[in-house]
Order: sequence, then structure tokens, then C-alpha cells
Amino acid sequence: MKGLSIAQNLAVVRRRIEESACRVGRDPGEVRLIAVTKGVEPARIQEVLGAGIASLGENRVQEIMAKHVLVGPGAEWHFIGRLQTNKVRRLLAEVPVSLIHSLDRPGLAEALDQEARRIGRVQPVLVQVNVSGEATKGGVAPDDLIPFLRWVAGLPGIAVRGLMTMAPACRDPEDARLYFRRLREQAVAAGSAGIDGIGMEHLSMGMSDDYPIAVEEGATIVRVGRAIFEEGERRVG
Ligand SMILES: *Cc1c(COP(=O)(O)O)cnc(C)c1O
Repeated sequence: MKGLSIAQNLAVVRRRIEESACRVGRDPGEVRLIAVTKGVEPARIQEVLGAGIASLGENRVQEIMAKHVLVGPGAEWHFIGRLQTNKVRRLLAEVPVSLIHSLDRPGLAEALDQEARRIGRVQPVLVQVNVSGEATKGGVAPDDLIPFLRWVAGLPGIAVRGLMTMAPACRDPEDARLYFRRLREQAVAAGSAGIDGIGMEHLSMGMSDDYPIAVEEGATIVRVGRAIFEEGERRVG
């Protein structure tokens, strides 16, 4: 009954996104659901595609390269994990990544810019922000964000489309709200800093435990894995 469970899980996730959006007067159509398929076998990925989800997310280069081939056309791929500079060339050459969510340092920006230009592409990215300040989390520190964006705006191979964050793992999902709110404030500040050539239309925030809260706080992209692929319904938020 695996197929049934993915369809049921998806129905729950979609309903919760809709409810959260409506609660704060947002159009649910503004929120894109990315199914995070790390560790998920291709047959189950086909089930989510069949259920109308087109956007898939992976956090490892090896896995996105392999799955992109196995799954075939009909999916749009998002890279959401920490990206090593020495893997940029293969990633860009082999996968048409529609959005890289995890630009978090100058060296990676340079590598992406150089490789994208070499193959004649402009690579859309989000800048990951470490809003919680946890040492274990990737991301640009909030105080460094605007200078970083000004500098990245000068790299023609990269197009910044917004920000991404990962909230700390909290027992109460409500505790993530503060971090999502901070990310939105960062995006507002960046959007009004007068930086030519960057966009702030996307906020990628919210995972299985806290996506309803992220939607209430303005997420335009939620990255959901377990709540879609695990057996049974997860109660969140
Ligand atoms: C795994 C992962 C997710 C999804 O996490 P779930 O808890 O399974 O929903 C989202 N974002 C990133 C960056 C991840 O690595």
C-alpha cells in the first residue's frame, strides 16, 4: 500500500500548506512544494511525479546525478545541500539544476559563476543564511548578507532569486517561527538595498516538522521529505 500512503501524505501536506496560507491571507498558489527525495528509490519518486509534484530536491551531488538519469524527464531538480566547490563542474554539466538553494560562500559563488559561464548558462541560486547562528549550520551570517549579495550581483553566471534557511531542530515547531521571520526580514532588507541584478522573490524555508509555520511566515518554497515519503501521517505544527 505504499502508493496509497504517498498519495495520502501528499494530500495532507497540500492541505496544510493551503490552510496555513489562508490563515495569513496568502494565495496557496504562491507556495511551491519540493519533494525531497534523498534516500528515496526511483519507483517511489515516480509516484510523487504521478501525483502532480514536479519539483524534486536532493542534498548530495552523487545522488542528484544518478536520480536525474533514473527518473528521466518530467522532473525539475533542486540542489538543497552543502555543495563542495570541486563538485560544481560535474553537477552543472550533468544536471540542469533549476535552483541551487545553498550558495553560502564566496569560493562557491566563484566556482558556480565560472562553470555556468563556461557552459553558457546563467545558474539560478538562493543564498543560504544562517539565521540561528549555530556553528554547525551553513549559511552566510545575517550581518554579511548585503555585502555578499552586492558582490555576487557582479557575477554574470549566477542569478540570485532569494534566500534559504534551515531552522534549528526544535521540539516545538512553533520555535522555528522566529528564524523564518528573520529570514523574511533579511529578504526585505536585501530587496530594498538597491542591488541591481538580484531578485528576492523566493524564500525557501520549512521542512517536514515546520513547513506550516514557514508558510505562515512567507515561504514561497517548502522542502519536504519525511512527511511525504514516510509511512503514515505526521502530525506537525
Ligand atoms: C533533508 C532536507 C530537507 C527535508 O527534510 P525532512 O525533514 O525530511 O522534510 C529539507 N532541506 C534540506 C536542506 C534537507 O537536507
